[in-house]
Amino acid sequence: MPPTIVEQGEYNYSWDFVVSPEDMKRRSRPMNSTGKGGTLETVNYQSGCRTYRLRCIEVPVSEVENALDRWSTSSTKWPSVFYIHVNNGELTPRRKAHNGKDLPVDITSCLKAGENKLKIDLLLGPEECDKIRYFFAVEIMTTSGFQLVRSLVKAVPAETGRHSLQQRLNEGTGDDELAVVTDSLTISLVDPFTARVFRTPARSLFCNHPECFDLETFIKTQKSMSGPGPMNDKWRCPICKLDARPQLLVLDRFFEEIRTELVRTGQINTVDAIDFLPNGLWKFKGVSDRSPKSTTNRPTLPVKRKAPLSQSPAGTPTSRPKIESSATPTAPPQKRRVVIEID
Ligand SMILES: [Zn+2]
Repeated sequence: MPPTIVEQGEYNYSWDFVVSPEDMKRRSRPMNSTGKGGTLETVNYQSGCRTYRLRCIEVPVSEVENALDRWSTSSTKWPSVFYIHVNNGELTPRRKAHNGKDLPVDITSCLKAGENKLKIDLLLGPEECDKIRYFFAVEIMTTSGFQLVRSLVKAVPAETGRHSLQQRLNEGTGDDELAVVTDSLTISLVDPFTARVFRTPARSLFCNHPECFDLETFIKTQKSMSGPGPMNDKWRCPICKLDARPQLLVLDRFFEEIRTELVRTGQINTVDAIDFLPNGLWKFKGVSDRSPKSTTNRPTLPVKRKAPLSQSPAGTPTSRPKIESSATPTAPPQKRRVVIEID
């Protein structure tokens, strides 16, 4: 069931959704295990099995139109008073007071093949009616092992990655008289988890930054965060925190080539960034190359479109880097950033 709004003044809802017989066979099933403390109900989550859960998020009234975009990255937030019935069986929400935060409700065991009925009855306070809206949805969670998650990641060709960086450097401001001009774009190659150059560069389709994180490290980190159950809500880009679920991840071949070149030239421990030029060329940037004018974000300067965008010769982009750095490991890195804002 997709995210569905709780309208102002309507407090009783009945939603129908269908679960096919094939999907019912794939659902996670509880088992009883007997130990010293008695009988304990456990659930064995095998690769490919499905779990159905009810979630609710809170959205400010002014943001209702963007609610669907926020769904995946919004934490569960239950209304102050409400009741859940799935196929006439009552379920209790897991609340912040007992769990540290509001948690989704697993409704898998209440489902049957064919049509299922979800009933929600709410009692909302004045604050909940005036300033916010709630959205309910039934989510399907699929348990996936590392290899399955890895197989969902699509690759972006090196030329596409390079072209996108050139666009980022040369894009206009929307004003015909103005152009955004910069000499280069400094892009970090360091994975935020390991603080080392990534092995497999990746980001989410939602990311608006060129920097990558290490794909394998990211997936493994998600595994450890999810604990024994598949209730992980943390599939967010470690750089920008936007939605980075497995089906949204992309592997950037352009940065993969750069890493290969780093290894080939023996600079994997002394280089941590590149300077990307408007003509598609790039050069390594070691920790000793940091200057006060360096920036990990694009420096933007408004100027009249009279001068050429770059003094560099307009050559054909090549994957062979222009290597100029000879980093000195003892030199302290300078992390000062300069951002110039345009009104
Ligand atoms: Zn991101």
